[in-house]
Amino acid sequence: MSLLKCYECGNDVSEYADKCPNCGCPMDKIKEFALVHDHSKIVCKINQEIKDITWIKDELMSLDENIFQLYRKYYAPEMDDIKIRGKYINDKIFLDSSGFKEQVYRKLDLTPKQARHFLYQLIESDFTLESFDGESMSEFNQKQRAMLASKPKCPMCGSTNISKIGSLNRAASIAGFGILSRKIGKQWQCNNPKCRHLW
Ligand SMILES: [Zn+2]
Ligand SMILES: [Zn+2]
Repeated sequence: MSLLKCYECGNDVSEYADKCPNCGCPMDKIKEFALVHDHSKIVCKINQEIKDITWIKDELMSLDENIFQLYRKYYAPEMDDIKIRGKYINDKIFLDSSGFKEQVYRKLDLTPKQARHFLYQLIESDFTLESFDGESMSEFNQKQRAMLASKPKCPMCGSTNISKIGSLNRAASIAGFGILSRKIGKQWQCNNPKCRHLW
């Protein structure tokens, strides 16, 4: 257990306490203050939260210079182009750089793309980047869930693999072309081969 100094009252506080027992200063504030003032640490404000990113610099600085330059190239903005990225897909250094990016996006709660932009800016700033704002993974997941929840589903099997029956298709049905006449008055069809429900 380590002790941190409360910046409000100077009291020593256990890192596991939720506030300073002497003055009530919240622990996350005490930790943030300690981090910002610890000159052995590199910190960056990511989506409004101070994060210790010393481990990122340590890892990147431990690479050989030529490998470091390749990482820098692989994190560059032009790698947003999926075609350019595709060229490196069998490159071991590229895969290593992606593996490291994955650690970064998990620990910093950024999407993979935002983690790449963050790493590039960090390297370009020679590790002096003070803040970075980008979509977080939790935000992204929330959006995905909301999108799925609002997506229409087949009322029979729950599949979201459904399609709207086009007006042409409906016109053909009204004209009475065999099996299509089942579709008269229906708006949707389920594409789940085991279901094929129309409604
Ligand atoms: Zn205190
Ligand atoms: Zn269905």
